[in-house]
Amino acid sequence: MREAQDDEVFPESAQPGSEPVQSATDSVTSPDLKRLIDDFSAEYEDSLISFRRKLHAGPELSFQEFATTDAVAERLTQAGLSTHRLPSGTGLFCDIGVAGTRVALRADLDALAMPDGKAVPYRSQNDGVAHACGHDVHTSIVLGAALVLSRLSEMGLLPGQLRVIFEPGEEQVPGGAVEVVELGLLRDIAMVFAVHCDPKLDVGVVGSRVGPITSAADRVEVTLHGPGGHTARPNLTVDLVALMARLIQELPDKLEARLGGPQNCRMVFGAAHAGDAVNVIPATAVVGGSLRTPDLVAWDSAPRALTESLEEILGDSGASWEVIHVRGVPPVTNDSGAAEIAAQCVQDLLGQDALVKTEHSWGGDSFGWMTKETRGAFLRLGTHDPKQDTRLDLHHRQFDVAEEAILIGVRLLCRTAVSALSELQESSSR
Ligand SMILES: [Zn+2]
Ligand SMILES: [Zn+2]
Repeated sequence: MREAQDDEVFPESAQPGSEPVQSATDSVTSPDLKRLIDDFSAEYEDSLISFRRKLHAGPELSFQEFATTDAVAERLTQAGLSTHRLPSGTGLFCDIGVAGTRVALRADLDALAMPDGKAVPYRSQNDGVAHACGHDVHTSIVLGAALVLSRLSEMGLLPGQLRVIFEPGEEQVPGGAVEVVELGLLRDIAMVFAVHCDPKLDVGVVGSRVGPITSAADRVEVTLHGPGGHTARPNLTVDLVALMARLIQELPDKLEARLGGPQNCRMVFGAAHAGDAVNVIPATAVVGGSLRTPDLVAWDSAPRALTESLEEILGDSGASWEVIHVRGVPPVTNDSGAAEIAAQCVQDLLGQDALVKTEHSWGGDSFGWMTKETRGAFLRLGTHDPKQDTRLDLHHRQFDVAEEAILIGVRLLCRTAVSALSELQESSSR
C-alpha cells in the first residue's frame, strides 16, 4: 500500500551551509539505532516467547485480568519502570522517557470465554477460557517494546516520551479503552499505535490501510407486541410472525439506504424468536442482530437511522415495539500520517513486499476509541506459519500463531514509536 513518499516526513539533508547536525529523524534512519533496537529486541525474544506461553496457559476473561496485569507489571518493575494500574483493577500503563513529544503503544490483555482446543504444552489451564484472539501475543510485543525502548531512553536515544497502555476488557463492549480515554491517558499523546494478529497473512507480512480498518459494531434488539390471536383469523389481530419476517427482510435495506449503501452498512440478524403453538398468533416477538459500519459519520447517524427505519416498517402495523440499541465501539480509523510512518518502518524492516493493503474488516476493536481521540494506526501483523496447511481464523478454538511474529512485532513497534517521535519533534521544531 505504498503511498508517494512524503519528503517532509523524511527530509534528506540539513539546510545548506548549516552544521551537519544529526537530527532525531536522521537518527531513526541511522543504521546504529536500528541495529540497537534489533539487537536489544533479539535479546528478549526467548523470554518474550516464554512470557506469551505463560499468558496463553493462564488466560483471563475481560476485566478479570488480575494475574496478567501483575505479570506485566512485574516485568516492567524489574526493568526499573514505574507502572500504574487502572482504577477499575486490571490493566495498566507505564511512561518511559522524561520529556518531550509523546506517543503510545497499546496492547489488550483479555481472553475469550471458549475452550482451547489445541494439544500444545502451553494450552489453556483455565477451563472455558482461551487466548484465541492473540491478545497474549500483543501483550508480549508491547512489553518487549517497553523493555527495549526504556534501554534506549537510558542511553539518551529516545527522542521524546513513550506511554505503553495495556488495556483490559477489549473483547467486551464498549471495551476497556473507554476507561483509558476517560482517565485522560491519551490527552497528550500525539500518536498511538497497535498491532493485531492476522492469521490471513503469513508471518513477516503486515497489513495496513489509511482510513477505517475495522467497523463499528452495535447490538440491536427489537421486541414487537400485539394482541395475539387465532391463526384462522389474522385479520382480527396483528400477525406478529409475518411482521417479524417483514422487519428482518426490510430493515437492512432501509438502514443501508440511510447510511451510505451496502459497502457502508451491514445489519445482520442472529436471533429471531416468536410463538410456540403452530395455530396461535403470538403476542410477542423478538429479533436481534448487529449493525456494523466502518464509517464514523454513519455510526453517529445510526440511532436516528434505526428509529426512522423502524417507524417506516412498523408504523402502520398496529403493533407496538421497543428497541434496545447498545452502542459498540467506533471504527478504528488509521490516520494517514501515522499509517505512513508505520508503513515506512514495515518496509524498512521487512522489505517492500512485506506491506500489503488490507480491506477494512466488519469486525470491531476497542482501539477505535483511541483513534477517535488521537491520531493513530492499527497494523495487521501476519501470524500464519506458511509451513502449516490450515489457516485458522481468530476466535477459532485451535487458533495459534507462528511465534516469530513476536520479535517482528517488537522491532516494528520500537522502530515505529521512535520514528513517530522523531517526525513529530521535527515538525514541531520547524
Ligand atoms: Zn477478538
Ligand atoms: Zn482481538
